[in-house]
Amino acid sequence: MADALEGFRREARDWLEANCPAEMRTPMRSEKDICWGGRKFTFASDAQKQWLDVMAQRGWTVPDWPRDYGGGGLSPAEAKVLKQEMAALGCRVPLQSFGISMLGPALLEYGTEAQKLEHLPKIARGEIRWCQGYSEPNAGSDLASLATSAEDMGDHFLVNGQKVWTSYADQADWIFCLVRTDTSQKQGGISFLLFDMESEGVSTKPIRLISGASPFCETFFDDVKVPKDQLLGAVNQGWTVAKYLLGHEREMISGMGGRAQGPLLSEYALAKIGRDEQRRLDDPVLRARIALYEVRAHAFAAMSERFIDRLKAGKIHPAQPSMMKYYGTELNKDRHELLMAAGGSDALEWDSENSGGGKAARAWLRTKANSIEGGTSEIQLNIIAKRILELPEG
Ligand SMILES: Cc1cc2nc3c(=O)[nH]c(=O)nc-3n(C[C@H](O)[C@H](O)[C@H](O)COP(=O)(O)OP(=O)(O)OC[C@H]3O[C@@H](n4cnc5c(N)ncnc54)[C@H](O)[C@@H]3O)c2cc1C
Repeated sequence: MADALEGFRREARDWLEANCPAEMRTPMRSEKDICWGGRKFTFASDAQKQWLDVMAQRGWTVPDWPRDYGGGGLSPAEAKVLKQEMAALGCRVPLQSFGISMLGPALLEYGTEAQKLEHLPKIARGEIRWCQGYSEPNAGSDLASLATSAEDMGDHFLVNGQKVWTSYADQADWIFCLVRTDTSQKQGGISFLLFDMESEGVSTKPIRLISGASPFCETFFDDVKVPKDQLLGAVNQGWTVAKYLLGHEREMISGMGGRAQGPLLSEYALAKIGRDEQRRLDDPVLRARIALYEVRAHAFAAMSERFIDRLKAGKIHPAQPSMMKYYGTELNKDRHELLMAAGGSDALEWDSENSGGGKAARAWLRTKANSIEGGTSEIQLNIIAKRILELPEG
């Protein structure tokens, strides 16, 4: 077993060395280097496209999905080895998408065979980009209050209403969307629909963020016709699918807390601030905060590895992604606070060439959203209190 895994490791390393273009073995410089795929996506370079194509052909954009659906058919242990070898060679992730990290797992669990065959290979090849239509103006933390309606019209649903904070809705090809099919029950009146963003009656309006970027939109539905076979799960059972998907979303977001996100803070701070006569970071307060952060980040990385192994083995408590999401995002916010503190006033530069167009400041501001997206920290703490610690409701 161990020999077979070592054999796979050698095979994977040889293949990656032969197939990963040199440019795709350099760190990403900005968000533009992320390959999201989809009908509207413009590749940043030929190498980016080539890397996506060869990885998709091998099924390694989604290594542990079944081969029939465009995956690599790898076991969890092999998929982990592949990830380690990609990290060792500095290979970029060839494709990142909500299809891979959110909808795919839900389709694998709840989709019909026809839905899996229709959607999963397109996600794996980066042909269709998905967005998430959950939140509404009056349904964020209390998501089950959502009001977007889907009326049963016989052979189709007629969807009317509004979503908000829909990340990349203006870039996406399809949406996975929570709708109300029964007003007499809260959670029990929600259904889960999949539809094309080019359907008649769908429109989007970008919202500008504090960081200056516009990554999300208001999304409007005005008499949108959705064929019945685009319902995922049964009518009024969408809440179960929605919660399962949220677990995967929270697992994905928790990854932000990992140590693999850029240089070690201590090294960065040493380069910016310098050393005292004992060759330690020449700022005792910051030194203590950074040491505490590094210890926490190390512990979180170990915890994450264990969590992912147990998740793949189907052995986690259903509320555990909330724990990981809470800690990982708070840790990432802390990391960026410390980067700003170590960078001093230079780090606040917004537009200069020297600051790479305000890279540090914009990234710091972006992290403020980490503990909101995918469910706020307060909501994760409520879930942990209720479902893991089993504390009584106040
Ligand atoms: C960057 C980003 C991307 C996003 N992308 C998407 C997306 O693609 N699709 C999508 O559907 N949504 C998306 N969201 C929306 C996100 O899921 C919501 O913002 C989030 O669930 C919070 O809802 P809300 O904004 O309505 O805040 P509210 O629910 O109004 O909460 C306001 C404040 O009250 C607190 N609060 C509310 N209820 C409780 C409670 N019971 N106990 C304690 N405190 C409470 C909250 O923690 C928060 O601090 C995104 C958000 C961000 C920031």
